[in-house]
Amino acid sequence: MNKKTVRDINWNGKRAVVRVDFNVPLENGQVTDDTRIRESLPTIRYLMEHGAKTVLLSHLGRPKGKVAPEFSLKPAADHLAKLLGKPVTFIPELNDAAQQTVNQMQPGGVALAENTRFYAGEEKNDAALAQKFASLGDVFVNDAFGSAHRAHSSTEGIAHYLPAVAGFLMEKELDYLGRALGDPARPFIAILGGAKISDKIQVVRSLLAKTDYLLIGGGMANTFLKAKGLDMGASLVENDAVDTAKTLMDEAGGKLILPVDAVVADRFAADAERKIVSVSAVPEGWRILDIGPDTVKTYTGMLQDAKTVVWNGPMGVFEMAPFAEGTFAIARALATLPDATTIIGGGDSAAAAHESGVADKITHISTGGGASLEFLEGKTLPGVAALADE
Ligand code: ADP
Ligand code: MG
Repeated sequence: MNKKTVRDINWNGKRAVVRVDFNVPLENGQVTDDTRIRESLPTIRYLMEHGAKTVLLSHLGRPKGKVAPEFSLKPAADHLAKLLGKPVTFIPELNDAAQQTVNQMQPGGVALAENTRFYAGEEKNDAALAQKFASLGDVFVNDAFGSAHRAHSSTEGIAHYLPAVAGFLMEKELDYLGRALGDPARPFIAILGGAKISDKIQVVRSLLAKTDYLLIGGGMANTFLKAKGLDMGASLVENDAVDTAKTLMDEAGGKLILPVDAVVADRFAADAERKIVSVSAVPEGWRILDIGPDTVKTYTGMLQDAKTVVWNGPMGVFEMAPFAEGTFAIARALATLPDATTIIGGGDSAAAAHESGVADKITHISTGGGASLEFLEGKTLPGVAALADE
């Protein structure tokens, strides 16, 4: 990674204003999944240990520029205090009292400010708000990879007013994703799935240019198969994208690999009637909800030689157990590759990897859903671009 990090700063007594991703699920004022908070602990602990006064910023949910108590970050502050075993000061509003609180902090102290999206300027990347955030610190640290694809006051704007460096989570994400796309060990295979091809046309294009093979599954495979002239029955197909799918297949040559069989169902329901058929024999009125066993065999076979694997998008409707096997089989295959860097990006794909029970055997599961997708598209993320170069 070619960006400065928290290691490049002498923190002693300096105020660090740190953008984290504490967009965690809450229930009755309690954090129900603290993964995102735990992912930011290495950066927070480093700052504490190096004598910084740390002020954390995050968004939570979509309060749309208005103060909304159900989206308060107070429960996250309490939860963080428990994880750190140290008090975390909560800053409810960015007023004079907040400045005083920050100025009176001791080196090693930690504070968390209220939801950045309580301010109407945040999502507009308002400069005045960015300056207000910047006034809380001497150096800006961005550790919120999951928000780096958005140019908001707390992710991008603030970096115009302070020296800006990456935190450890940001560094890890950029290292893994950056190396995979920039300098991959080969063979480099990407697996792409998910519901819609229209969400991922740019990802397909970008990955076709970089990978040795692109294995397609999920709902998006249907549109490719339809473009080859196959009858997809009642499967999810994007008719508007059939021409694009044809063009992509032409561009891809032999790189783009499609399913040969599928699990089809007579309804979109977990208790639907189901069977395994060739993709050329989808019965009328039935729909493809997972890749079939022959496809799993072909794909896992191709993966055996891979040195780099990037996976985005489930192979089927894994939320329903009878249609999760293709997705889980791919996850297990990735987990057992002897000598490959395996990377999973995308919100649903990450969830599927965790559900498959092999998440700890994957080299890197990105914490950024939308951000990892935009990275795979080859885009420059504004929150990353704003960080100081090494
Ligand atoms: P990610 O969040 O990992 O980028 P997507 O959001 O693109 O993934 O796609 C995930 C969704 O795709 C899941 O909700 C899954 O049910 C759906 N999906 C996968 N295969 C099919 C299919 N054959 N038909 C309909 N939906 C599918
Ligand atoms: Mg998704």
